[in-house]
Amino acid sequence: MNTPLPPVKMPARVSVLLPVPLNTIFEYANDQALPPGTLVKVPFGSRNMYGVVWEDTSSPSLKPLKPLLTVFSTIRLPEVSLKFIKWVSDYTMAPQGQILKMVLPTPEAFEKEGRDNAVISKSPQKPQLSEDQSTAAEVLKDSLKAHTFQTFLLEGVTGSGKTEVYFETIDFILETGGQALVMLPEIALSAQWLQRFEARFGFAPAVWHSNLPSRQRDTTLRNLLRGDIPVIVGTRSALFLPFLDLKLLIVDEEHDGSYKQEEGVIYNGRDMAVVRARLSQATCVLASATPSLETEINVLSGKYHHIHLSTRYGGASLPDVKLVDMRKIKLATQTWISPPLQTALAETLERGEQAMLFLNRRGYAPLILCRSCGERVMCPHCSLSLVQHKSQDKLLCHHCGYTRAQPTTCPTCQEENTYSAIGPGVERIYEEVQTFLPQARCALLTSDYLTTPKKIRDCIEKIHTHEIDILIGTQIMAKGHHFPLLTLVGIIDGDSALAGSDLRASEKSFQLLHQVAGRSGREDRRGQVLLQTYLPEHPLMTALVRQDKAQFFAIESEQRLLHGFPPYGRLAALILSGKKNEEVQKIARLLAKNFPLTDKADLLGPTPAPLSYLRGRYRWRLLVKTAKDFLPQPLLKHWLSGTRIPPSIKLQVDIDPYSFF
Ligand code: ADP
Ligand code: ZN
Repeated sequence: MNTPLPPVKMPARVSVLLPVPLNTIFEYANDQALPPGTLVKVPFGSRNMYGVVWEDTSSPSLKPLKPLLTVFSTIRLPEVSLKFIKWVSDYTMAPQGQILKMVLPTPEAFEKEGRDNAVISKSPQKPQLSEDQSTAAEVLKDSLKAHTFQTFLLEGVTGSGKTEVYFETIDFILETGGQALVMLPEIALSAQWLQRFEARFGFAPAVWHSNLPSRQRDTTLRNLLRGDIPVIVGTRSALFLPFLDLKLLIVDEEHDGSYKQEEGVIYNGRDMAVVRARLSQATCVLASATPSLETEINVLSGKYHHIHLSTRYGGASLPDVKLVDMRKIKLATQTWISPPLQTALAETLERGEQAMLFLNRRGYAPLILCRSCGERVMCPHCSLSLVQHKSQDKLLCHHCGYTRAQPTTCPTCQEENTYSAIGPGVERIYEEVQTFLPQARCALLTSDYLTTPKKIRDCIEKIHTHEIDILIGTQIMAKGHHFPLLTLVGIIDGDSALAGSDLRASEKSFQLLHQVAGRSGREDRRGQVLLQTYLPEHPLMTALVRQDKAQFFAIESEQRLLHGFPPYGRLAALILSGKKNEEVQKIARLLAKNFPLTDKADLLGPTPAPLSYLRGRYRWRLLVKTAKDFLPQPLLKHWLSGTRIPPSIKLQVDIDPYSFF
């Protein structure tokens, strides 16, 4: 008698996406098919790699397939993450594998045993919202209840209570289920924000950013895929995490340039947050005192809803902004603080209050020059001057990090000790303050000094306990801090951000200056801002003095519309770089020659990039401009596929570019 043979198992073909910068889907064999999103370990070349099962798209391969090594049958990316990978890849033109890496940054986490941190809860402290705030929070909660995708601009001056409004909305998520993500531009500086969250909710949120210790990343990722994390607070990279049930996304300071990632996958975290919200029918809140032009336009066209908090919470008044017309002031050589600002500083300190001086330039002097031959000291790897940092007794390249000792002999003319520091950085302003206010206790707030979270905390603590009279710093202190005694802000160079080739220069300056100004007089004391400028008639300056955002945006919009620039048109930048200038130039020209004939898009360039030499590579740029209703990606794809780019040349595609160097 024959016993029937056990059924022969036909190995299934499994498509797998791997975290490598390729669009290729790889195929493996397994004894059964697996649902898309499942985490697997596979052999790849000479090593093993983690990947996720991808939907079957290719025609069957005839090659014998290698088997999967491990199937993590309980670890599966949600469908929305898979959709998001595809969407972001299509939009940014970065390979899907590279985006997978952001969605599953530490897949090895799932092979580790991890004791997960217990959540310690205290009792939450819920404030009584003002009428404006309650109304705003109700609108957002209604959107959450409706389970449909909606985007809101939550607009209000600094101190108007926007944070409390979205906290209330997060509370609703905690009560009703689902997950919330809060994106902040910069987490290292958000200690105060995190403390506030903890006081409000009685527990600390899970935090996510790229400098997190790997153990903490592992734990968070594991807990997230288990559905155990209701709220994540993080920088732009947190957006890609595999949330199972993301219902609310908040982008704080939505106008902030640090949402744009400039390396690897080049994307705008603010824009991708809106996309992510759409994919899971979530509510997206963009909060800002000075919304970006892009967002304003989306409000005007009805794409976004608008919620406005019109007064400062508790009725605190906005600071007085005064321009100091530097054309009319004779400063002693090598000084930058005008007499009116000196007087205001002295008076502020006499009243027992605090002041802040703002200059967006780290170090002592932006360049040093040989007085004998006029040569400046340049970075050997970049077309940039080296910046003098006196505290470290070094010259530094702010783009590539190159450092060297200050030379004593000029390599060009061989003269000795002829170097002069040209222009001020914050360290030099610090020195200048000591000359006229020697008793003032000053602190430098820049990334060179505040190098660890502890140093940042200590510094903020010292400001609160009034152990510091004058803060001198860069943009890092423009963000989100409340210092009740701070009543004077002095802006050393109100014009600096207006220079340069950036189409958003005016907008960024307006936002930054407005934000810096918002630091002053946040409680019951009225603050003042003194802004030193050589362009007092510039529309930006008059708008700042009047704090008239509408006027500023009207002028700025007109300019953009005139040139077909964003938000009225679309841009895509191509940056080519390589070790040999002629070779890069040749490919840039060839690309331009092959640009398809179309009335839908304009090609600008090629030109050498403003930073034509960076980290040892020569750089050329091309810029494609299209109408707003014409997506450039298909055109770019077609165009780029028609030109062979040798491996020695790196091509970066930057959709919706924010930087133009
Ligand atoms: P924004 O986010 O618009 O800058 P915040 O939400 O940070 O404003 O509010 C500014 C200040 O006012 C904070 O110190 C905050 O604690 C306080 N505040 C705002 N709303 C309330 C409220 N309803 N009750 C008590 N304090 C509030
Ligand atoms: Zn350099």
